[in-house]
Amino acid sequence: MRYSALSIFLNGLRGNKGWAPAWRDPAPKPHYDVVIVGGGGHGLATAYYLAKEFGVTNVAVLEKGYLGSGNIGRNTTIIRSNYLLPGNNPFYELSMKLWEGLEQDFNFNAMVSQRGVLNLFHSDAQRDAYTRRGNAMRLHGVDAELLDREAVRRKLPFLGFDNARFPIMGGLFQPRGGTVRHDAVAWGYARGADSRGVDIITQCEVTGIRRENGEVTGVETSKGFIGCGKLALAAAGNSTVVADMAGLRLPIESHVLQAFVSEGLKPFIDTVVTFGAGHFYASQSDKGGLVFGGDIDGYNSYAQRGNLACVEHVAEAGLALIPSLSRVRYLRSWGGVMDMSMDGSPIIDRTHIDNLYLNTGWCYGGFKATPASGFCYAHLIARDTPHQTARAFRLDRFARGYPIDEKGVGAQPNLH
Ligand SMILES: Cc1cc2nc3c(=O)[nH]c(=O)nc-3n(C[C@H](O)[C@H](O)[C@H](O)COP(=O)(O)OP(=O)(O)OC[C@H]3O[C@@H](n4cnc5c(N)ncnc54)[C@H](O)[C@@H]3O)c2cc1C
Repeated sequence: MRYSALSIFLNGLRGNKGWAPAWRDPAPKPHYDVVIVGGGGHGLATAYYLAKEFGVTNVAVLEKGYLGSGNIGRNTTIIRSNYLLPGNNPFYELSMKLWEGLEQDFNFNAMVSQRGVLNLFHSDAQRDAYTRRGNAMRLHGVDAELLDREAVRRKLPFLGFDNARFPIMGGLFQPRGGTVRHDAVAWGYARGADSRGVDIITQCEVTGIRRENGEVTGVETSKGFIGCGKLALAAAGNSTVVADMAGLRLPIESHVLQAFVSEGLKPFIDTVVTFGAGHFYASQSDKGGLVFGGDIDGYNSYAQRGNLACVEHVAEAGLALIPSLSRVRYLRSWGGVMDMSMDGSPIIDRTHIDNLYLNTGWCYGGFKATPASGFCYAHLIARDTPHQTARAFRLDRFARGYPIDEKGVGAQPNLH
């Protein structure tokens, strides 16, 4: 069924009884050409593009929970392509272009809102670094504007401009950045993949990877053995656990990242704003709540909940940036498990096992990458060659000495 204004109108006339489920709930088949582990944004997008762009439809996505129960349904919904390094920049811009046409492409309202992303700077040195990043973006054809203090003040007059330690001197603005409703992305890709024949199997945990003569032959799951021609991992914060089933040790650490929503407020932030002197960022949802977040919790964990120390840390940074937040009440918070790589950049690659493919290392920035990640991963799986924009995201880059260290902070996940 195609969704349209007319279909809403006609269904409304019929008491909304004509809607079909957005995707099926199939039993697993004994064998698929491709099995994808992880029904998050990346797994579902991969299945969608495999079917739509590469004609590979005998595909199953195996999800241990319900659809969208991982980070795809837990993130703070920010999209942007404001990257400095050549390894990253074209990839994230491809993602931005895919976001711009996504709702028409998969016929689903994902509330793509290009309200802009503003990164504030608080020192001369930081301004120089942001100027360099902005120039690199523009050289790659990405939109970037350097705003001075007064231009920022006109946009967001309530910020703490004269904070004694972190005065706001200006910001790097990407007008095409913004937010997208995260779970609608999962639903849209699921619906699009399902309608092209992909089986999305939820409550199906992969517990083992079976191999014969070196090759993967299938996966053990809570719903029995499922055979496959190719196995593609997209398990985000659980990547290390799943890869371990094939004897693969990954350069990934799992950390919790928390997010928060405030009580509903009248509209006052019409963009995404990020603090440059600490880790804090915020936007305002359509319901009026401030959606904000900050640093990862500093210890390793696979639990989808965080600790109070980080809550306090984020609140402090928030107050330094927006002093009036002191009178706002938190509504709720939650956590997701991040697949932190050693240079802060992702991995989309084949592995030393011929028919085992890997997609991981998204750290806390993988939501914005969902369309390009799905597209490039599907390209790799279908053609066995990397898509040109994802060539740099190789697993062996750490061994070869070619990390993609966008923030220049080295191999410390807690600093990314
Ligand atoms: C609080 C928070 C805020 C964030 N904010 C942003 C943001 O503003 N912008 C941005 O770009 N990124 C953000 N991110 C990061 C982004 O959400 C992730 O990088 C991205 O969603 C990861 O990819 P995914 O969607 O495929 O992950 P997930 O949705 O986590 O998908 C992985 C799936 O694999 C499943 N799985 C794991 N193990 C197994 C198994 N053994 N068998 C079967 N299934 C399994 C899991 O249940 C899960 O559903 C944020 C993350 C969090 C937690």
